[in-house]
Amino acid sequence: MINEIYVKSVLNKTKRRDTWFLDDYTINPYSACSFNCLYCYIRGSKYGANMEEKLSVKVNAVEILERQLHNRAKKNQHGIIVLSSATDPYLPIEKKYQLTRQILERIHHYKFPVHILTKSDLVVRDFDLLEKINRDAILPHDLQPLLSHKVFVTFSFSTIDNTVGKIFEPGAPLPGRRIEALKETLAAGFHSGVSLMPLLPYITDTEEHLNAMFAAFSNLQVRYLFPASITLFGNKPSDSMTLMFQAIHKYYPALEEKYIKLFAYGHQPPSWYRNEFYRRVAPLREKYHLKDSIGSAISQNPTHPS
Ligand code: SF4
Repeated sequence: MINEIYVKSVLNKTKRRDTWFLDDYTINPYSACSFNCLYCYIRGSKYGANMEEKLSVKVNAVEILERQLHNRAKKNQHGIIVLSSATDPYLPIEKKYQLTRQILERIHHYKFPVHILTKSDLVVRDFDLLEKINRDAILPHDLQPLLSHKVFVTFSFSTIDNTVGKIFEPGAPLPGRRIEALKETLAAGFHSGVSLMPLLPYITDTEEHLNAMFAAFSNLQVRYLFPASITLFGNKPSDSMTLMFQAIHKYYPALEEKYIKLFAYGHQPPSWYRNEFYRRVAPLREKYHLKDSIGSAISQNPTHPS
């Protein structure tokens, strides 16, 4: 049984635009996320260990968005809208509710550019609308000299191995399906890339796994690639740190000690790990000619947090 909720606001203005995601605004059509990634940063007691049980549809989102976009457009405050930052806009439930699709229709009407972030192949359903947005949207003034597209589609991966994906992203479409959708998105002419966020220590951040991922995405000619290390929170039953440690204990017992050391002092692995991580990633980026920004001249941050 899906919860239906009413919200007062759906278009959130960000305090600062991220150099990777270019998020002037964010929209989350759903509350919680049935993809249930163990490492997800929205995890915590609010949604429980199985976030599908707390999944809610913002049933008045389109009506509220209409008003918010109308006000912003009237003041010429066009900016890139990220869909989504705290859920996936293409969850299975989207097939029934078509909320993301209706939201994109309003976004097109008010000429806002969009950045889709997803783990789902359902995004291909909306190519017709995304093409219209790409044609008609108005970029924010400062990005006009730097960008030639108004739609960006980023597929998120922590691995390209379906077996690993099943463990850490139990409700999400398998990485193989995502790769097929990425191919279709690029073939349709969209400015599309990948976010490798987070890469899993000693599992998918190894020289071998990184090389396989960079080679695969380079072959597909993705336009950009964002690699990042992991951040985990909390020690309660539904926190990301707890769930990740349980999975490591069950599926990778040989790595347990290493994980304990990595997170002994906080949410992030220590600086030696992060330095090592970027030392492995930098030559691969060069080797495979992969850019780490959507627009060519947008300032890049080599130590971007996950
Ligand atoms: S798809 Fe994104 S929002 Fe959903 S559970 Fe995974 S990391 Fe969290």
